[in-house]
Amino acid sequence: MNIFEKFKYGLNKSSNYLSSGIINTIKSKKISEEIIDEIESILISADIGLEVTNLLIEKLKNSKINQNLNTNSVLELLASEIYKFLKSSEKELSKQSEGGTDVLIFVGVNGSGKTTSIGKLIKKLNKNNKILVAACDTFRAAAVDQLKEWSNINNVDFFEGSFNQDPASVAYSACKKAKVEKYDYLIIDTAGRLSNNTNLINQLIKIKSVVQKSINAQYINNILVLDGTNGSNMSVQVDTFSKAIDISSLIITKLDGTAKGGAIISIAKKYQIPIHFVGLGEKEDDLYEFDAKKFSYSLLGLNLS
Ligand code: GDP
Repeated sequence: MNIFEKFKYGLNKSSNYLSSGIINTIKSKKISEEIIDEIESILISADIGLEVTNLLIEKLKNSKINQNLNTNSVLELLASEIYKFLKSSEKELSKQSEGGTDVLIFVGVNGSGKTTSIGKLIKKLNKNNKILVAACDTFRAAAVDQLKEWSNINNVDFFEGSFNQDPASVAYSACKKAKVEKYDYLIIDTAGRLSNNTNLINQLIKIKSVVQKSINAQYINNILVLDGTNGSNMSVQVDTFSKAIDISSLIITKLDGTAKGGAIISIAKKYQIPIHFVGLGEKEDDLYEFDAKKFSYSLLGLNLS
């Protein structure tokens, strides 16, 4: 399967919902206010968001295709407009420091896919880099074990504190080790219990502050992992975590398990935070660099020439 096919396969649920809905609505009928209204409600119920939907519908109304409606041209128009919204969100994860350590701080609620995404990412990065993974969720033994397992499988070094140790002190020691032993990447996993927002936020603020004491701020990438099945509710998490830490980039997981993949569009438009990767499955190779064109066309069930 090539990467575009993987996007199409992974986004199957979202694209089935959207494209079948639109295809069934149009079905050889001439364009009318009523059909436009139906397309509008399909876009909204696919979690594409009101603002983006309004802009898409506006484009549809103003386009020449509305005289003689052809399903494919409607899908093409929507895909190319969605691509325009998403293009600026593409951002490859690249090494920032030369000869120094880049720190990737992973944040996100428990269950969002942080550990799995770290595991998938170290597999991608460890071909050319010396990597240290630090488990700073010291309150969840299972999370530490899972992370250790991913590190072992991929042959990268693993750093942990003791159970219940202050996560910031683990982060501090990990930074020290990474600098002295010249690691290319230090990947820090953090806790994500949203049940206690204040503690969570204070803990992240402390981690951020100790990391900044050791590592130049421009080499620190705060990556928020969002569970794509939450659709537009992902914005609650962006708001919550932004209170603690400047979110530099996003990874959106589990897009293979939802019909709400279109929610990425309004998240991208609202926050303008780059998206490094999307998760399109549970296997270790199922983390893909975010490609706006492949995403947009797959979302509408189209092929790319
Ligand atoms: P954490 O608590 O944030 O560290 O979350 P985990 O990494 O443990 O992931 C929670 C669950 O989501 C696990 O069962 C993962 O296998 C699953 N998961 C993570 N990413 C993806 C993805 O892209 N697609 C699917 N289908 N499942 C995923």
